Amino acid sequence: MAQKPTKVADDVVVSLAYVLRLDNNEIVDEATRDEPLVYLHGYGNIIPGLEEALEGLSAGDTKKVVVAPEDGYGEYDEDDVDVMPRSEFPPDFEFEEGMELELHDPDTDEYFEAYVAEIDEDEVTLDFNHPLAGETLFFEVEILALRRATAEELDHGHVHED
Ligand code: ZN
Repeated sequence: MAQKPTKVADDVVVSLAYVLRLDNNEIVDEATRDEPLVYLHGYGNIIPGLEEALEGLSAGDTKKVVVAPEDGYGEYDEDDVDVMPRSEFPPDFEFEEGMELELHDPDTDEYFEAYVAEIDEDEVTLDFNHPLAGETLFFEVEILALRRATAEELDHGHVHED
C-alpha cells in the first residue's frame, strides 16, 4: 500500500475549509469543516492562484492567500456583455437581476453561462464575465485532510465523493 500523502501535491485529494472575501471584506464564498471543498490537486479544478498557493501544505495548516484577478476569475472584460431583445426568450420567462443563465448556441452546440446585469422593458443585458471577474480574492484556508486519489479519479481528473 502506498503511504498516505503528507503534503498537498499533484494527484492528492485535498479537503479544504475556506472563507473567501473581497477587498471590501464581504464574504462571497466559504466551505466549512463540516462541508469542506474536496478536490483533486494539479488538475485545474480550483482557480490557479489558489491551487499554486496550497502546494506543499500539510493537514492542519492554515494560510492566508491573496489571488490577483488574472490568477482568479480573470480581468473584467467590458466587451463580454450582450444586449438581447426580450422577445428571444420565452414570453413567461421571469428575469431577475443577478440571476445566472445557461445559454445554448445551437450552431456550435456550446453552452455559456451569463448573468442578468440589467432588465429593461424590451431588452435584457447579459454579462458573460464571471461575477468575480476583476476582483482580488482574499482566502483564509485550512487544510483538513489529504488522501491518495484512486486510479479512476486520476483518470477522470476529479474526485468521486459527495
Ligand atoms: Zn469522474
